Parts: sequence; C-alpha cells; structure tokens
Amino acid sequence: MTAATAFDVVVLGSGIGGLSAALCARALGLSSILVEKNARLGGTTCDSYGLIWVGDNHLMRAAGETDARAGIVDYMTFLGGGEIEQARMEAFVDHGPRALPFYEKQGIAFAPVPGVVDHYFGVAPGARGPGRTVEAQLISGRELGKWRDRVRAPKDAPYNVTAGEQIAWGGINRYSSWDQTLLAQRRADDMRGKGVGLVTHLVKALLAREVPILVESPADRLLLDDGRVVGARLADGRDLHARRGVVIATGGYEWNADLMRDFDPLPGLQPLSPPGQTGDGLIMGAEIGAAIRRIQNNLNLMLGFSLTPDEPGASPIQCMAGISEMCSPHTIVVNRAGRRFADESYFQAVVPMLRIFDPMRHAPVNLPCWLIFDSRYAANYALAHLPVGSKIPDSVARAGSLPELAGKLGVDADGLVATVGRFNDYARAGVDEEFHRGELRWRLATATGAARKNPGLGPVEKPPFYGIELHPSLGTSSAGLLTDEHARVLHQRRRPIPGLYATGVASARTELGAGYQAGLNMASGLTFGLLAAEHMLRENGRSA
Ligand SMILES: Cc1cc2nc3c(=O)[nH]c(=O)nc-3n(C[C@H](O)[C@H](O)[C@H](O)COP(=O)(O)OP(=O)(O)OC[C@H]3O[C@@H](n4cnc5c(N)ncnc54)[C@H](O)[C@@H]3O)c2cc1C
Repeated sequence: MTAATAFDVVVLGSGIGGLSAALCARALGLSSILVEKNARLGGTTCDSYGLIWVGDNHLMRAAGETDARAGIVDYMTFLGGGEIEQARMEAFVDHGPRALPFYEKQGIAFAPVPGVVDHYFGVAPGARGPGRTVEAQLISGRELGKWRDRVRAPKDAPYNVTAGEQIAWGGINRYSSWDQTLLAQRRADDMRGKGVGLVTHLVKALLAREVPILVESPADRLLLDDGRVVGARLADGRDLHARRGVVIATGGYEWNADLMRDFDPLPGLQPLSPPGQTGDGLIMGAEIGAAIRRIQNNLNLMLGFSLTPDEPGASPIQCMAGISEMCSPHTIVVNRAGRRFADESYFQAVVPMLRIFDPMRHAPVNLPCWLIFDSRYAANYALAHLPVGSKIPDSVARAGSLPELAGKLGVDADGLVATVGRFNDYARAGVDEEFHRGELRWRLATATGAARKNPGLGPVEKPPFYGIELHPSLGTSSAGLLTDEHARVLHQRRRPIPGLYATGVASARTELGAGYQAGLNMASGLTFGLLAAEHMLRENGRSA
C-alpha cells in the first residue's frame, strides 16, 4: 500500500450522501477520497429539485420564527407511517438544524424557498406552512474550473434556476413562458440551481479542500481485516485503504433487474434515474453480512414516461409525469377500465393504488395506466419539458374522440367516456368529489399559475385527445443497508460493522419511513454525512 492509496475515509458515490460525507470528513480534519462510478458526478441528486427540508433551521430562526421540536417529531412520526427507527429519526431532527450552518461554513449558502408549505400542511400533526424548506443558492459552473463539465447535467429538465424561482414563475410545466432573456443569460453564465447547483457547491468545496475525486472508478467490493472494513477494491483492481471508515453512498438499484424483482416488483417499472443505479452498495454490504431493510409502504415512487421525439436519432426524453403533467389542468390518469384511481396531482396518493392486486384477475388493478390529456393541455403546458405549444410528437397516441383514443390505447371506451364526463363536471365546479385533487395546500404552492378556483383541475374536453402509457419509476429505492443513528451499517446480527457507514438512499430510509416530504432525502444526506464523519473522527481509531 502506498501513502497515496490510504485515507482516513473512503467514500463511494458522488450524490448528496457521498459528497456530504467526503466534505464533512475533510472539514473535520480527516483525509477523504471520493470515488464515483460514472464519468460525471452527482447521480440522481442532479435530477432533483434540490429542496432541503429541515425543521427549526437557522434561516427560520434568523427570521424570528420558532419551530418546536415536539411538532417536528410529530410530523416525522406521521410521515414515517410506523416504519421509522426512533433513534435515527431523532438524530435527523436534532442534527439537521446544526448541519446546515456547518455546510454554510464550508461556503454553501442556503435560502428559504418562499411559499412552500409542508406536504401535509393542515392535515397532519406538526405540519406547518413555509419555512422548513430551503435550497442552496445559485452557483456558476465556472467556479469548478476544469471540473466544470464533470457534474451531471440532466438534459430533459431546466436547472439554471432555483426551485423557488421555478415555483414562482408558474411551475416546471410552463417553463417556456419564463423570462427567456434571463434564462439565456443564466445559461451563458452557466448558473446552476436545484440539485445540479447543490452538487456544484459541494464539489467546489471538495476541490477547495483538495479532496481527491476519482471518476469512472466503480467500487467493486469491501476490504476486510478481522471483521473490520478497512477499504474498498475498485473494479480495475486498485485498493483504497480506509483508516477510519468506508462510506457507502452508491444510491439506489433501479437499473438492477434482480434487485428490483427482490424489493420493488411493480409491473412495467421503467428506470428514469441515471444508469449507475445498480445497487452496488447493497451488494457490497450484503456480501459481508450487512442487514437490509425494506420500507414496505415506500411512497417515494413516481409515474413517468419516456417520449420518443420526432427528430430521427434524437434520444428519448425521460419525464417524471408525477411532478409535472399529472399536476396540471386538462390531464387525468386512468387504468385499463378507463377509471381514475387517485388524486393525480399528489403522487403519494397514487403510489398505494399502484400496489393494489385484483385477486380475481391475479393482476394489478391500476397498472398499466395512461396519462390522458387534451389539446388545451398541449397548447398551454409543456409535455416532457418541451416548449409550451410544441407539436406533440408522433409517438404519442391521439384521436379526435375519446372512444377512438381508448381503442388505440386498449382502454375500456365506455369507462373512459364516463370518467372524463364526471371529471369535467368536477373541473367546472372546482371540486373533485372523488379524489379531492388540488385541495391540499402543498399542491397549491406548486400550482401552475392558472387563474381558476382550483388550479389543479381543468376539463379534458377539446380534441384531439392524447394518451401515453405511464410507468412506475423509483424516486427512491425501498430497500437499503440498515444503519443506526451514526450512519453505521448494521450486521445481520444487529451490531455495527466496524468501519462501515452508509448514507443517502444506499441506506434504508428508517429515519423517514414510508412517507414522502420533498426535501427529506437531501436533508438526510447532509445530516447523516455529517454524523458519519463525526463518528469516524470520534470513535474509529487507526488515525493517520
Ligand atoms: C425528479 C426528482 C426530483 C427530486 N427532488 C428532490 C428534492 O427536491 N429534494 C429531495 O430531498 N429529494 C429529491 N429527490 C430524491 C433525491 O434526488 C434522491 O433521493 C437523492 O438524490 C439520492 O442521493 P444519493 O446520494 O443517495 O444517490 P445518488 O445521487 O444517485 O448518487 C449515487 C452515486 O453513486 C454512484 N455509484 C453507484 N455505484 C457505485 C460504485 N460501485 N462505485 C462508485 N460510485 C457508485 C452513482 O453513479 C451515483 O453517482 C428527487 C428525485 C427525483 C427523481
């Protein structure tokens, strides 16, 4: 072993979990190295809105607001749906507020996201209005010097804005109506917001501290010495030795068909995350006896689609419909019977319905399912982030009448006609009597700017009508390595595996449980990255 291949901390994966752990370790005086499988850094974190949810955060306090711990714990308990580990949840609640200022000291400035309320504001105990959701401020990619092009930039969604701007400007599905001059300037300056901005901030901080970063270097297995993890072997055979610990932060497993079958077996599941998500960390951990926990009612799942553009040779556009098309007026989602089955604008309401199994047909009740929209949607909102008013690509089924469209999609025609008739009545009245679409305050906070009583509702009535099959896609995998409140990975015998930590979605979401609240994944990565680094500093001898 040469000096160059030995570090205090070896971190595998460069999303929010890995970047945070590598930076915190270095900031605390440990030597760290970041190892990334892909050519570009950032993983799924670059697809995210970059929202960070921290109760009682320092920005709230600076604004003179109070946020009692008991209320935050109540809300987290509600979100957890019976699937949280108390110690981890409390670690998240107690250390999140101090994690944010820690990162600010490393040069990452945060700002509140105005107007964004908790998802269950007005519904769940402890939920509150704006304040808990923050995001990193804009940053230019130029600040990364020669690493500028080494951050993943999602090609199918705008990222030269903050999430706050995106919401204030009318929502992602109207982005071609945003100030195009400003956007052009932002692109020219390579200004980055949302997940890409957060990753850029963290990479900048790592480079400033001269933390080595390896790209195109997949980790293959963990190195053991007398039961202790002492490093990782890369696929090319290089060994990286870790004096204090290895942090697994390799994200989810959406691109691993075996793990998907094992843990998230929904029919028609289509990965919309970057292809690096093959569950490598789960496999490396399991190989040495790590316990794996699956969150049974994981609501972190979305419906999406892959759209083939008209231009020959153009690559398909990946789109999470659950946070754009399905939240917009003039759209519904129906099953094979032509029936709606949930509030389309709230993916947490949709997810459990996708898991319902019909014992008589021995098949899911609501899969496959289709997004149905009309020409008013096409004229006023973006499909798959294409400019508003773009021609709908030929690959999308269309028809002059609903029965004809139903025939093309294989959906029951009478069912679809009846469903649309009822839905249009609700849209005109502004009240969805079946599923209450658009009534939650959180939904209104991200509405699309339509000036109507219920911004989430608009009739589906003006031909041509369009239909696209939607596929379940994992926002965050249901299973991960079981970890404790210090982010230590637990063995099958429920003792910590010495020297092994996990953060991000490679670790089971036991601090969060079943529920979804935008910003929890980023906040968890930031918080447990810090807690893992602090634990390695405090407890794990074998110092440099
Ligand atoms: C459209 C969308 C919007 C979202 N918005 C938000 C939001 O606003 N707020 C929020 O909190 N969450 C959001 N999420 C969820 C969030 O993006 C993820 O939960 C989070 O990014 C996961 O971070 P991670 O570090 O665990 O994994 P990732 O960011 O996926 O990073 C894992 C990295 O590990 C690398 N890797 C894999 N295997 C290896 C290996 N063997 N060796 C080395 N490297 C490896 C991968 O290539 C990848 O770069 C959103 C998700 C989506 C899809």
